[in-house]
Amino acid sequence: MMTIFQKILDREIPADIVYEDDMVCAFRDIQPQAPVHILVIPKKPIVKIGDMDEEDRNLVGHLMHRATRIAADENLTDYRLVINNGEGAGQSVFHLHLHILGGRPFAWPPG
Ligand code: C5P
Repeated sequence: MMTIFQKILDREIPADIVYEDDMVCAFRDIQPQAPVHILVIPKKPIVKIGDMDEEDRNLVGHLMHRATRIAADENLTDYRLVINNGEGAGQSVFHLHLHILGGRPFAWPPG
């Protein structure tokens, strides 16, 4: 199924892209939940983190590593990385994405 994130990757709908390489793309969330709220997605359309294959380990490692660099570029020292897996966990777009949230304090446990 074609998701909104695939349309962003295909440049069919606009997004504020902050980083892109051959494996991943990062753009600002359209409904930010913190002063900095960026989504990092693989170009490969993995539906959710629970669906990642053995062969995706490198890709997911790269996704996570890039997220830390993007957070540093945003001058964040403290930040939260979130992946919602499945509807019951809050996933609404079924193309794997890692949320980078920063710029405000965060409570624990999350809601
Ligand atoms: O983890 P979850 O699936 O709920 O996250 C999806 C995120 O994608 C939301 O934070 C939503 O604001 C964002 N989004 C976006 N641009 C769109 C559609 C959704 O940034 N066009």
